[in-house]
Amino acid sequence: MKTLRKVPFVWPTWITRLIAGEDNCFFKSWLKCHYQNYDKTPSDFNSAMWNIAHTKILRSRVDELTDKGHRVLIEDQNSFKLDYCSSAGHKCVISAKPDILAFGQEQAYTSHGNVDVVEFAEISDAKSGKPKTSDSVQVYIYQILLGLAVPSYAKTKFSGCVVYKEGIKNVDIPNTIADDAGLREQIFTTIDKIIGPEVACRKTPSKMECRFCDIARSECAQKFKE
Ligand code: SF4
Repeated sequence: MKTLRKVPFVWPTWITRLIAGEDNCFFKSWLKCHYQNYDKTPSDFNSAMWNIAHTKILRSRVDELTDKGHRVLIEDQNSFKLDYCSSAGHKCVISAKPDILAFGQEQAYTSHGNVDVVEFAEISDAKSGKPKTSDSVQVYIYQILLGLAVPSYAKTKFSGCVVYKEGIKNVDIPNTIADDAGLREQIFTTIDKIIGPEVACRKTPSKMECRFCDIARSECAQKFKE
C-alpha cells in the first residue's frame, strides 16, 4: 500500500523523458515523487544483466580518464541532495548520483590558435541502451544541479559526456550548457509541476508508455489495456 512521503522526492530519471518529449504522462512522475511503496506491475527487466553492462562501460571510461592523469570519482562518491522550493512554495529533495566526475587539466586551442593548458572538470554518465535525447538531459541536469547542491563545486563549470557501449559514439556536452536559460526553465518547470498538486499532472495512457510504466492498474485505472 502506498505511503505519502514526508517531503516530495525527485530522482532525475523521473523527469528526463518528460523533458525530452519521449514521455508525456506527468502523473507517473507525480506519483513517484509524492508516494513510495505504490503497487507495481510485475517486471521481466533483468537488472543483473543491466548492472553488468553498465559497469563494463563505466569501468572502461574510468580507465580512459585515469590514463589521462585525471582524478576520478565514481557513483556513491558523487551522490548529492538538493533542498529545493518552487516559486509556488512547494518543497522537495532532489537526489542524484552521477556515474563519474573527473578533474584535471588538458590542452586546448585558444581563440588565437595557440595551445594552452585549461582546467578540466567533466561529468560522465554510462548508458548501455540505444542513444536517446533523455540520456543527454540527465547529464544536463547534473551539470546544472551539482554546483547548487555541493558548495565546493559552486564555481566549477562541468562539461558532460554520455558514454555508450563500444561501437556507439559518445555524446560530448559543452560546459556552457548549464547557462542555457531555456533549458534551465524547462528543467525547473518540470520539477515544479511534479512536486505540485496532482491536478496539474494528468495521465496520458498510451500503449508504449503504459507498457514500460511500473505503476499497477490498482494505482492508475487508466493504464492502457492491450
Ligand atoms: S499506467 Fe500509463 S497512464 Fe498510468 S501512470 Fe503509467 S504511463 Fe501514466
